Amino acid sequence: MRRTRPVHLILLLTALLCPRLGEASPQTAAPAQSASPMPKVRLLATGGTISNRAGGRLSAEELIRSMPGLERYARPKFEQFANVASSQLTLKQWLDLARRINGLFKDDPDLSGIVVTSGTDTLEETAYFLDLTVKSDKPVVVVGSMRNPSTLGYEGAANLLDGFRVAAEPASRGKGVLVVLNDEINSAREVTKTDALRLHTFQSRDYGVLGVVDADRVVYYRAPVTRHTKESEFDVSSIEELPRVDVVLVYQGATGDIIKAMVDQGAKGIVIASAGAGATSGTQGEGMQYAAAKGVFVVTSTRTGSGRIASRRPSAMASATPQLRIAAEDLAPVKARILLMLALTRTKDGAEIQRMFTQY
Ligand code: ASP
Repeated sequence: MRRTRPVHLILLLTALLCPRLGEASPQTAAPAQSASPMPKVRLLATGGTISNRAGGRLSAEELIRSMPGLERYARPKFEQFANVASSQLTLKQWLDLARRINGLFKDDPDLSGIVVTSGTDTLEETAYFLDLTVKSDKPVVVVGSMRNPSTLGYEGAANLLDGFRVAAEPASRGKGVLVVLNDEINSAREVTKTDALRLHTFQSRDYGVLGVVDADRVVYYRAPVTRHTKESEFDVSSIEELPRVDVVLVYQGATGDIIKAMVDQGAKGIVIASAGAGATSGTQGEGMQYAAAKGVFVVTSTRTGSGRIASRRPSAMASATPQLRIAAEDLAPVKARILLMLALTRTKDGAEIQRMFTQY
């Protein structure tokens, strides 16, 4: 029979006698696999349903305490970045969040990863923004929940523990910003909230999950190949304000005056959530011409939920200002908006912006 090595015995006793946080049950106080210190993982809590307890939102500290057995995987640190619904986060807060994450990784080489809690409604937008602006290949994991802490079957603590495990996992490095809910790991670029209420709402449609978080280990099956995080050219360290970019939905008989109003209100870019592979409706074409006459970029994406808008579309080539017409490739309209905002912080050259849409 295999004998227990003394180092394992010491770790077992330490885990049993000194649980760092909350009540460690006998099942959760299992020993670590090696004598090296637990990975340090920091939580930045921003709010959302995961902390939306009736009678008062959970704080970052309470979220940490909600996870029995966390000490098996990580040395947690935490901070309250915000405590609001995801859709209430401002673009200024996005910039601050990216800068805070970059600062934490820079100042603390010992930090293994960061977990960000977020409401689920616009979680994929925040996650993709971070995917393009975090300057580290260490994992940043965005986590939320569909049920609040006062609801039977609250899955927030389980999702958060999964998020900590993914952030502490060395194999998570270099995979861009990750979204973890429902025991699944998705790429921030690919994932979308697909259902208003169901727990399995976050899906990467054609692409599928990057991996899963199982009881025994974090498992990866693939990695994204698009540019992100450390390979990204975007730098928000000194940006005070992102340029205004609006999204326009195509629907039967839609009017182009809304596009004109956006341009008049200062939009520097418009993303069209087109029908199918680029079609607009009603008088939207006139609105797009108005935008072009004012030097405003128009990015065509699709409202279908998946699929690609090719960069050499005949309609763009036929346009009088093809350099202002960009194809979103396979980016969802809300993500195309984020990439266009960041692209416009670097260039006004349409060919350059199109290059970015083929790379990120
Ligand atoms: N309204 C919430 C939010 O996005 C929804 C959620 O967290 O699931 O903040």
